Amino acid sequence: MSIPVVEAVSFDFADTLYPHRPDELQRVLRQVAAALTGSAAMDPPDFGIVHDTFLAVRNQQFAENRATLRENDLDARFSACARAVGAAPTTKVLGAMREAYTSAFVAAMVPPDWLPGLLESLSRQYRLCVISNYPLSAPIHQTLDRDDLRRYFETVIVSADFGLIKPHPRLFAAAREGLGNPDPARVVHVGDDWDADIQGAGQAGMKTVYTRQWRAVPDTHYGAGDHLPLAEIEDLRQLSELLA
Ligand SMILES: [Mg+2]
Repeated sequence: MSIPVVEAVSFDFADTLYPHRPDELQRVLRQVAAALTGSAAMDPPDFGIVHDTFLAVRNQQFAENRATLRENDLDARFSACARAVGAAPTTKVLGAMREAYTSAFVAAMVPPDWLPGLLESLSRQYRLCVISNYPLSAPIHQTLDRDDLRRYFETVIVSADFGLIKPHPRLFAAAREGLGNPDPARVVHVGDDWDADIQGAGQAGMKTVYTRQWRAVPDTHYGAGDHLPLAEIEDLRQLSELLA
């Protein structure tokens, strides 16, 4: 299958460019708990309480924000974790938790070895960008900088900087602006989330490609909504051929 006149390719970040293994969250939260202990000068708290509190607030935010498309508040999760173990969520404590979360996230992100070559090759033909739903922008930027991949992208849009999450049109509009305002029909957005990526980019007038390469669990919203992808791929490297 071939797609006519593509000018730009937009990528989701987690589970599209980089695999995001669910078990990494445990490791990230252990470092957040350690930062809480250190910054609040307290004895190590019960990790189970920190973990369960983080997930409970996160899941509540996901449920609420799916309708409002407001960004998920990471500091609210950290504050709840601190309070749950008897610590005051001061600026210092929250800052330490945010920093620990960022460095643990970056350490957990390992790019597939073919990713630099693929981006290098695509960037010779298309303008590229990233549109990521993430409640902190530093981990996304630091990961791309560490792997020397930032240079391939005209713009890197992270939801945290907008206070809104995909599928909100604002993020796709910002990406298009960063790409030099191409006709949206000539932009292909690639993502693993049916609602955020396929419906969001579709509503913004973009073409889409749905990738299932890294997602461990099925997409619960699969098939819902008005927009269908041009293709579903099992490997991001199929893009070169698909777009040619
Ligand atoms: Mg994703």
